[in-house]
Amino acid sequence: MSISPYINRHVQELVAYQPGKPISETARELGLNPAEIVKLASNENALGPSPKAVKAMQETASGMHIYPDGASFELRSKIAARHGVDFCQTAVGNGSSELIELLCHACLGPGAELVAARYSFAMYSIMCKLFNAKYVEVPNKADWSHDLQGMLAAITPQTRIVFITNPTNPVGTMVGQEEMDAFMAAVPEHVIVAFDEAYIEFAGEQTDCLKYVRAGRNVVSLRTFSKAYGLAGARVGYAVTTPEIADLLNKARSPFNVNLMAQVAALAALDDTEHITRSVQMVQSGREQYYTAFAQWGISCIPSHGNFILVRVGDGKAVYDAMLARGVILRPMGGYGLPEYVRITVGTREENERCLCALREVLKK
Ligand SMILES: *Cc1c(COP(=O)(O)O)cnc(C)c1O
Repeated sequence: MSISPYINRHVQELVAYQPGKPISETARELGLNPAEIVKLASNENALGPSPKAVKAMQETASGMHIYPDGASFELRSKIAARHGVDFCQTAVGNGSSELIELLCHACLGPGAELVAARYSFAMYSIMCKLFNAKYVEVPNKADWSHDLQGMLAAITPQTRIVFITNPTNPVGTMVGQEEMDAFMAAVPEHVIVAFDEAYIEFAGEQTDCLKYVRAGRNVVSLRTFSKAYGLAGARVGYAVTTPEIADLLNKARSPFNVNLMAQVAALAALDDTEHITRSVQMVQSGREQYYTAFAQWGISCIPSHGNFILVRVGDGKAVYDAMLARGVILRPMGGYGLPEYVRITVGTREENERCLCALREVLKK
């Protein structure tokens, strides 16, 4: 017997998040050697984790029979010091994806609304639907950036959260400080504004959303160790916000949501500024590598503030398949409603070279 009639309809109707294709699966399906596959599909850091984080994890392996510190005291203390806030203004999660979920958990339900940009992170709509709330999507501007005025206009008395992805995935644009200030001056007090800053380290412009937190506004800054810090596999992210919102996030989480390995890795990674600098430099020069080739070939791409580039290739799915056959995993964008595009993560110089060589062949340039 199917239990379908007894299941929550809104959960049943969810379309699960589709991650980038794993290297192991690609190798299996295509009979390729995993070592020869280049994955440029999930905006991971091609330099790997900080060597300091690797060492910390190795040293922790033999202590894995003990539960981690459920409060993540050391990690949250370091995060608080880094951002000049109090310990009680922080929360950590199993990736910043979990913090997105916890935020939705705290304030969404039937009748509530979440506002986000049309081209932004897919998890917002999934989480919104998981809590049976209404997802309100605002079209991006002609230059692909968030339409903050349009987002303001979409706010109703039912709006609980507005997500601003800065820089945004998958397009790579960002909103500047002045625009943010104007938005924050107009946004109603009952709305939580969540700035998802997963790619902020790579951004060409440094913006500050914590000044709104300091001013007592209901703002959340979401950060992750998955991108610039190179710890996507460890699953750790954090939120800096008001004590009230941090408390809600901490109430809604499971007791040991960030595991021991992840806690020690993140702690060590925070100290390794040299690794971050190298990662950011790799991405900045890698972006130029792609822009130069695309300009030569006459194909259009969106200048990016992230470690990825959205590029218009025609039939995105066909190009994705052809690249896959050549051992290069890209991200097709059909699911985002951008069937003519693929998203390419910026890798090492060699990986980018390999990707461009294959792409040149596929696009006949
Ligand atoms: C990758 C990403 C995240 C972070 O994901 P984790 O769960 O921390 O790995 C959050 N927001 C955006 C926009 C992202 O692209």
